[in-house]
Amino acid sequence: MSSQQHSTPGGERHITIVGAGLAGALLATLLARRGWQVDVYEKRGDPRIQGFQGGRSINLALAERGLHALRLAGGDDEVMAQAVMMRGRMVHFLDGRTDLQRYGRDDSEVIWSVHRGELNVILLDIAQQAGARLHFHRGLASVDFDRRSVAFEDDRDGSLHESAFESLVGADGAGSALRSAMNAVSELGERTDFLGHSYKELEIPPTSDGGFSIEPNALHIWPRGRYMCIALPNDERTFTVTLFLPNEGDPAAGVPGFDTVRNGEQARALFERDFADALPLIPRLEHDFEHNPKGLLATLYLDRWHLDDRAVLLGDAAHAMVPFHGQGMNCAFEDCVALAEHLDSGADRAAAFAAFQAQRLPDSRAIQAMALENYLEMRDRVDNDDYLLQRALELRLAQRHPDRFMPRYAMVTFHRMPYSVAFERGNRQRELLVELTRDHASIDTLDWDAVDAAVRERLSPLPADA
Ligand SMILES: Cc1cc2nc3c(=O)[nH]c(=O)nc-3n(C[C@H](O)[C@H](O)[C@H](O)COP(=O)(O)OP(=O)(O)OC[C@H]3O[C@@H](n4cnc5c(N)ncnc54)[C@H](O)[C@@H]3O)c2cc1C
Repeated sequence: MSSQQHSTPGGERHITIVGAGLAGALLATLLARRGWQVDVYEKRGDPRIQGFQGGRSINLALAERGLHALRLAGGDDEVMAQAVMMRGRMVHFLDGRTDLQRYGRDDSEVIWSVHRGELNVILLDIAQQAGARLHFHRGLASVDFDRRSVAFEDDRDGSLHESAFESLVGADGAGSALRSAMNAVSELGERTDFLGHSYKELEIPPTSDGGFSIEPNALHIWPRGRYMCIALPNDERTFTVTLFLPNEGDPAAGVPGFDTVRNGEQARALFERDFADALPLIPRLEHDFEHNPKGLLATLYLDRWHLDDRAVLLGDAAHAMVPFHGQGMNCAFEDCVALAEHLDSGADRAAAFAAFQAQRLPDSRAIQAMALENYLEMRDRVDNDDYLLQRALELRLAQRHPDRFMPRYAMVTFHRMPYSVAFERGNRQRELLVELTRDHASIDTLDWDAVDAAVRERLSPLPADA
């Protein structure tokens, strides 16, 4: 084992971050800009030298929470230069009709498709410019919490490299090695709920003249009840298509699953039947289906995120969620802002970590729940009459009562009120929408005086900063 240093580098305001993915690189920037000494250790090689090897979810929806964090880190301009605007959901019905359901009021309320690899590269650059030290090919191997010593392994030759630490931050994703090391010392109350559905990525290439082959400024959805496809645009004029299926299909009910759709030929048959308008857009369907990995979907719950002042977890390492609200990264970025503020507050480390957990754990639980609910909404509800009626009323109430009623999607996506507040208000609003539309086929038949009175009685004014 080579031993780099045994004294704590940089003294009091030093921090060691494990993982230079999205959250690790952003946190490094935020802390380095505040004058902290930051060392970041990443298992993989430097994507700026050898290309990005993400292995999953090629593009991501960036929303206001994530954008706000990027602004604080000084990375928003560069990221937005390669982002593609998505105004709403373009729903593709089985008969080939399409319908654009706007996310917000106008183009000030949109989400952005960003490339994971390009985003990671930008974040690494700004972290380094801010003064963070980045160490690649350093996978966390073991931690001696008593000695405050950590060992990293170089995947190229298996060599071990030891380092002293003041505190470790686990930004090493859903399979966090730091989480396992913490758990071995003191139980974190870990629980993983697998969704029972998985995903595969496919690609829609540009047209022969280099353009987008379908509407670029939308998130496309092909809802099919118990399964679905989505497609997000990329700035190089491609779309990344994600097929979500149950792990086990229900052939009697005509529901496919990854157990019945196992090869390219079966995938083609599924697309011919259920996604006929998408099929001609994906020329390498068989190849993509057979060569791209199948991704699992799960929600990770922990009761504790920190080990006194010695280690803390954030992002997917603390609260991985299913991707159906497009908020995992946005939430991880919000964690980074919160942790940087708590660390800088002057409180001792253990108190700062405890305050961070107290603030963010309830919010992560709320967005995890909303992400699970959104799967049902995307795959099954966006083309239902009752949903469309409730959605029409929701938009009308947001216009009539902007101080009290805001669609849940808007609270989560275009604003930064705590997720737990959005969740709780969203539940109350949902109850109201169901009650008010019961036995109606159109919002034109509603008694608007009664509707307005119900809103005023049941919904308190929105928080001032919403
Ligand atoms: C299909 C899919 C679609 C998604 N879509 C969206 C979306 O539209 N919008 C959104 O906001 N979120 C989305 N997400 C969620 C988002 O990808 C994650 O929430 C986000 O990547 C979390 O960032 P992170 O930095 O915590 O973890 P990661 O991005 O996983 O980064 C972890 C880093 O740690 C490194 N690492 C791992 N182990 C070690 C180790 N032992 N030692 C050192 N380094 C290590 C990894 O190499 C990696 O660089 C999606 C996720 C999936 C699966």
